[in-house]
Amino acid sequence: EWIDLVELIENVTLKAGLKAKEKGLEIEVSLERDLPMVYADGLRMEQIFLNLVENAIRYTEKGTVSVQLKRLNANEIKIIVEDTGIGIPKQELPYIFERFYRVEKSRSRQYGGTGLGLAIVKRLVDLQGGTIEVTSEIGRGTRFVLCFPIQMKEERRNETD
Ligand code: ATP
Ligand code: MG
Repeated sequence: EWIDLVELIENVTLKAGLKAKEKGLEIEVSLERDLPMVYADGLRMEQIFLNLVENAIRYTEKGTVSVQLKRLNANEIKIIVEDTGIGIPKQELPYIFERFYRVEKSRSRQYGGTGLGLAIVKRLVDLQGGTIEVTSEIGRGTRFVLCFPIQMKEERRNETD
């Protein structure tokens, strides 16, 4: 289906943003304004975002959660979800996309959750032919970078005329 990715991301951040306000976090959204309609599974995209943004908010005590959408070229987009939260220990990073994997027992008790979110995200990103990478620093924050090959409407129109 053809979807408006900018609108989708705005809606998700708005929904999740209420929780952020409660915690006194700032939400920064920087989206490629003139992105054309893209061909993607809207429901999958929404789930990917919601999970990443919810994590960013849940695992951040103060500062900012930021979401960026950039167009890399005619058929590739990049999405960044970043926070200034508690971070993830280096040695745990390879495992966070595994089902039921949760970092540290004490942390799990404090924050709740089942450890499924990122496994679902990884699977959905794979299904869409995308990539996801994470970098993190304890006490400073976490950054997820996603790239998707994506068909955009104006390019398709140009091809045919
Ligand atoms: P669920 O998403 O199923 O409710 P969850 O958030 O614990 O539970 P995941 O989303 O899969 O599970 O995340 C796995 C673990 O990675 C989390 O338990 C958390 O410790 C860590 N984590 C995920 N995102 C972040 C983040 N933005 N900052 C710090 N730690 C994170
Ligand atoms: Mg989660």
